[in-house]
Amino acid sequence: MSFDPIALTQELVRLDTRNPPGREQHCAEFLAPLLADCGFAVDMSSFGPGRANLVARIGEGPALMFTGHLDTVPLGAAPWTHDPFGGDIVAGRLYGRGACDMKAGVAAMLVAAAAEAGSGKAVTLVFTGGEETGAHGARALAAEHLLGAARLLVVGEPTANRFISGHKGALWLEACCSGVTAHGSTPHLGENAVYKAARGVVALEGFGFNVAPHPIMGSPTLNVGTIAGGANVNSVPDRATFTVDIRTVPGMDHARIGEQIGVTVAPGTEIAALVDLPSVWSDPDGPQMRRLADAYVAATGRPAPVLSANYFTDASVLTPALGNVPTLICGPGDPAMAHKTDEYCEVAMIEEAVAIYREIIRSA
Ligand SMILES: [Zn+2]
Repeated sequence: MSFDPIALTQELVRLDTRNPPGREQHCAEFLAPLLADCGFAVDMSSFGPGRANLVARIGEGPALMFTGHLDTVPLGAAPWTHDPFGGDIVAGRLYGRGACDMKAGVAAMLVAAAAEAGSGKAVTLVFTGGEETGAHGARALAAEHLLGAARLLVVGEPTANRFISGHKGALWLEACCSGVTAHGSTPHLGENAVYKAARGVVALEGFGFNVAPHPIMGSPTLNVGTIAGGANVNSVPDRATFTVDIRTVPGMDHARIGEQIGVTVAPGTEIAALVDLPSVWSDPDGPQMRRLADAYVAATGRPAPVLSANYFTDASVLTPALGNVPTLICGPGDPAMAHKTDEYCEVAMIEEAVAIYREIIRSA
């Protein structure tokens, strides 16, 4: 069965799946019958009210797995020039929240898999919810063993259809400093938690990871993203928190980094992980990545240089859950457009992504 990937992207953009709250279920319910009609065995699983993952399988044996997320980020405060849920196409650009990140990728994967449904190849589509807030849907699928076996994973996140061999990991930490409250006129009677947090933040500015840069990803990074503390101007604050966003490269142990951060900030600071997603890297010289690269070159006429992404994807959860299968990140849409006001995806990129995915299925 054949679908128009552009019309399908428009339909998906018109389904509001902003996360929070997510509401991926109505999107999954829209896609499930399309896939069932093409001969896929479709399973929808819930990971909360209105929250859903969809897994669709065809063929026997370890599958070529394609994955994309159904949720989007919120709209932001700035007004949109185009209806964020309209899917309007203007001058070759399809506009809307999630057009780029990543309903175009989901549509292209579905259309490619449907077009190759008669090939006899084992293909599994995994459409997740809750990716934008930390791969919650993928985690639920992995924890409940709902993925099945795969020999390759293709993640359709926006890469402007470039061939990406991996991405950094993410470790988001919340640090909480405690003190003793007192009247603001008698600070010597209290213990100021904001001072402790401030010292911790300043200490982290000079934090060194002591790891060699990855040849493609470069060095790990650290950013203090938020700080909050105190209740009112005339009290000594007894609580202050700050959050830290660390992006890691292969070979780094997240638990060890958490310990090092704990030593660097003020003693007694409580550190909790908000998001803990490992990096993903597939050897570009491995036979399966080479075959994927050959398919990519055949479909696009462009070379496939060795590249990585800074953002994380569901592959941080799915790739280890699948036994560290070779993983490619390749999808339509300029990654710089993701999460932006007036987000769009070039229509031509959606068509090309279908061609890339079809060639990958044919050659796998
Ligand atoms: Zn995304």
